[in-house]
Amino acid sequence: MQYYESMIELVGNTPLIKLNNVTDGIQATVLAKVEYFNPGGSVKDRIALRMIEAAEESGELRPGGVIVEPTSGNTGVGLAIVAQRKGYRCIFVCPDKVSADKINVLRAYGAEVVVCPTAVDPEHPDSYYNVSDRLMRETPGAWKPDQYSNPNNPRSHYETTGPELWEQTGGRITHFVAGIGTGGTISGTGRYLKEISDGRVQIVGADPEGSVYSGGSGRPYLVEGVGEDFWPEAYDREVTDEIIGVSDKDSFQMTRRLAKEEGLLVGGSCGMAVVGALEVARRLGPEGRDAVVVVLLPDSGRGYLSKIFNDEWMNDYGFLEEGGSAVARVGDV
Ligand code: PMP
Repeated sequence: MQYYESMIELVGNTPLIKLNNVTDGIQATVLAKVEYFNPGGSVKDRIALRMIEAAEESGELRPGGVIVEPTSGNTGVGLAIVAQRKGYRCIFVCPDKVSADKINVLRAYGAEVVVCPTAVDPEHPDSYYNVSDRLMRETPGAWKPDQYSNPNNPRSHYETTGPELWEQTGGRITHFVAGIGTGGTISGTGRYLKEISDGRVQIVGADPEGSVYSGGSGRPYLVEGVGEDFWPEAYDREVTDEIIGVSDKDSFQMTRRLAKEEGLLVGGSCGMAVVGALEVARRLGPEGRDAVVVVLLPDSGRGYLSKIFNDEWMNDYGFLEEGGSAVARVGDV
């Protein structure tokens, strides 16, 4: 019989897939590390597993414990899947601007979700911050992973993503490109690749224009999961050689091209990272023939169907070049 003991055995070991069509005029080989092949559908399964197992080893998380984290997205899904397998309760705190679909996904996996009003001061007892603090204090056995400061976030990438890429490329990787949210992915993967290649592999961050990583103040942008208005502890500034700022428009247009031209239905931060990777690859010119540029794609496009893959939404923001809808009406065809 061939089977896995549980879904968590399937975390990591994601495939590397060559980009063939969006790479027009580029000599370098551009490979995508497609993280939606993880069981929870994103790169965050890696950190969820590592953070939980480390907390079990240190005794911070005990049998029957409760995982409390302010998260509404991919990290919550990863934590919920691992927690379910290991018998922990999960309570996630999220602001009320989060879509019902996202909350329903977390509930579907068995997590409890506490929704807080966005329209109150941070000092208000019902604010996002105060509610998660209170839950931590009042819930017996509560443990907060805190992905922004937990060293096991970058460590999971140092131990899995980095070695996988080195092995999958037979040590031929020359550039690694990733978006930066908590900074865990780029810091852990980047550090491993720097060490094993004696500093040869170039580590490039892609960042929404306006975020602090690319020199902004945290001005709002629409790409989700990346960019910050503060410098998290999980991010190691020493590791990145360069950071490329990418606009929402370029990010979303590339996200749609990845689905249409590469068969990759991925999220907006993936389109953003690919724009960065193609800039790196294009700059290498004809000398780039032997270069191997790897770009990490964190999640699937399924969570963005009503935004990036919705023509009306794209048009409202002026993100579609030609305007109008691509949807044909009955009678048009
Ligand atoms: N893209 C998406 C969709 C994410 O959810 C995240 C995680 N916040 C990232 C990119 C960035 O990854 P990291 O937190 O490891 O920097």
